[in-house]
This record gives sequence, C-alpha cells and structure tokens, in this order.
Amino acid sequence: MYDLPKENKDLRRYVLGKDLRRLGLYLLWMALWYGGAMAYNHNHQTYTPDRLMLGWKLFFWMLASATLGFFLFRIYTFFTDRAYQGTILTSGLSQSYEGSKDPGLLKSADYDFRLNTALKLETDRGKRKRLHFEQKNGFYFYYYEGTKVVKFHGLPYPVAVGHQHPNARQYRMCAACGQVNGAKETRCQTCFFTLIDEGEYAYYLLHDVPGKCL
Ligand SMILES: [Zn+2]
Repeated sequence: MYDLPKENKDLRRYVLGKDLRRLGLYLLWMALWYGGAMAYNHNHQTYTPDRLMLGWKLFFWMLASATLGFFLFRIYTFFTDRAYQGTILTSGLSQSYEGSKDPGLLKSADYDFRLNTALKLETDRGKRKRLHFEQKNGFYFYYYEGTKVVKFHGLPYPVAVGHQHPNARQYRMCAACGQVNGAKETRCQTCFFTLIDEGEYAYYLLHDVPGKCL
C-alpha cells in the first residue's frame, strides 16, 4: 500500500535494483552449493550411493545453503522491511562528534558529526515498531513526537506525511541518504535522488487516490 510515488522513478529503480541484486546473489549462492554437491558426486563415482550427496543428504545440504544465504544476503528483509505508516511515539537523539578524535585540533576536513536516531512508532494497524538510523545533519524537529511518517521498503529514512512540528515544514528529508533539503528542492543536494513530495503523498494517502502507485 505504501509504495514509492510513481514520480520518484529513480528511487523506485534504486530499491528494485538492490532487491534484484540480492535475490540474484542468493540464487547464485544456492546454485554454487548445488554445483559443489554435483561436483563431489562426479569426482567420487566409485563410491556407493549412500556416500554420495543424494536424497536426504542433498536435501539438508541445500537447506543449509538456503538458510545461510537467507541471513548472508539479508533475504529476511523482504518480510521484515515492509513499508508502513506510523506515528512517532518517542524520538531519541544521541549526538556524536569525532573531529578525527581530537577535539583540540578541529579541522574542517576532519569534522565529523552524526546524530544517532532511535524512533519508537505505532503503525496505523496498532503495531509497535522501532527504527534506528544515523542522520547526517540531524534535524530534531523533523522526527518530532506525534509526526506521522511513512517508512518505505528499502529506504532507511522515513518521510513525514503529517502533523509535523511547524519548524519542520520548510524541509524535506531525503529517504535514501538522510540529507535534510529545503522544501523547494526536488532533488537531494547530496546524493541527487529525487525527493518525495511529502505534501502530495500525504494528500494521496488521505484521499486514497487510485493509481498513486504503479
Ligand atoms: Zn540524499
């Protein structure tokens, strides 16, 4: 239901590309394990069938391959990282600053600043969710308590779709890299992905405009 807007073609392509790549690697991984078992059988043709990779042995071998790959290529995110809409219950920020780990010698090139963000949300279906991510240039008011956000599949930064702090309305969050951009920008000034039109998306959701997603 909470698909990326069809206007954000590049974001849709990016997420699809990432998913297909992972799925492709997963299938390749399983094919390699299967190939390994077949090569073993081929190289040991003099063995009796019970010593070859056949039947149950082959089944468990492939089961091990599927299970390991499931975690290695994070296939579980196809089930866990589903898009949803939620309201922020608590929004925690912990600041960190490195400055090349030498605060006495602040050089602009070494300047390093991160905001670790932890959100607790309640989805519109009443489920509790937690989100952890790192904002590059943290902006507290964007993920203010009470803000409605949509978390899209495959993109780390949720996007606000209503009840924001008034100070946040003049900004747009890049769903891909977490850069805060001006409300008039259509592309992220850091990673150049298109920005999701938060107002328009909120309107789509509210009025359930058919065809908002392809
Ligand atoms: Zn960006």
